[in-house]
Amino acid sequence: MRLQNKIALITGGARGIGLGFAEAFVKEGAKVVIADINIERARTAAAGIGPAATAKALDVTKVEEIEKLVAEVDAEFGGIDILVNNAAIFDMAPINAITEESYERVFDINLKGPLFMMKAVSNVMIQRGRGGKIINMASQAGRRGEALVTLYCASKAAVISATQSAALALVKHGINVNAIAPGVVDGEHWEVVDAEFAKWEGLAPGEKKAQVAKSVPIGRFATPDDIKGLAVFLASADSDYILAQTYNVDGGNWMS
Ligand code: NAD
Repeated sequence: MRLQNKIALITGGARGIGLGFAEAFVKEGAKVVIADINIERARTAAAGIGPAATAKALDVTKVEEIEKLVAEVDAEFGGIDILVNNAAIFDMAPINAITEESYERVFDINLKGPLFMMKAVSNVMIQRGRGGKIINMASQAGRRGEALVTLYCASKAAVISATQSAALALVKHGINVNAIAPGVVDGEHWEVVDAEFAKWEGLAPGEKKAQVAKSVPIGRFATPDDIKGLAVFLASADSDYILAQTYNVDGGNWMS
């Protein structure tokens, strides 16, 4: 029960890694708010977890919506102790084929969202005066470029940088900001990624996924279960002396 009585807000927590975190946080004693653009899926996810989980509608690209949601959660639950900036989208195009539209979409969700979530939630944490934990979801894609993944890689590199700046600004308020950089994590999101690779590289469906799984030194994709332990640690008092870090959870992928 490392998160007993803590209030956690997880963006994009309706499925995948964010949902895995929501389940794990509740098992550790937290109350979790799943804030997702897909409110129906968020409601189903929260119902599956039980009374300690609540679903709220949120589009992280809308600063007004962020401020309203954060004020609402703060008032309803008496503060926010943990924020996970998990909502993000993937995009695939080499530099000579990127579009302004996808640039705006990717950076609005993957960078603007986490920046303004950190702003709104840290102000609430500062006001309440009991510190807090912020976890940003980065990616191996933010550590190194990939020929076909220009915008997503750049947005995740920016998340790593924003994590460092926010951590240095907020440490004096007892707020720890860190990031997690997964390698490849299985889930619905990978259906889209695999289809995109098939389009750009002329592969058969499922071929890229199989290639990628083989290339990971540990020999398989991660599951949300493989990532959740680090999230619980970074959300708990065990990580009080740790800030501004981005941790790989990648089955050795970074070394390959
Ligand atoms: P996912 O696509 O399965 O889920 C993302 C969630 O975000 C969805 O529930 C979606 O409805 C929500 N969302 C999308 N746009 C939103 C918006 N504008 N406002 C609010 N919610 C919105 O994602 P995932 O694969 O579980 O990944 C979770 C995080 O981990 C992301 O930040 C992703 O970049 C990162 N990551 C994933 C992998 C991977 O292989 N799956 C690898 C490295 C990093």
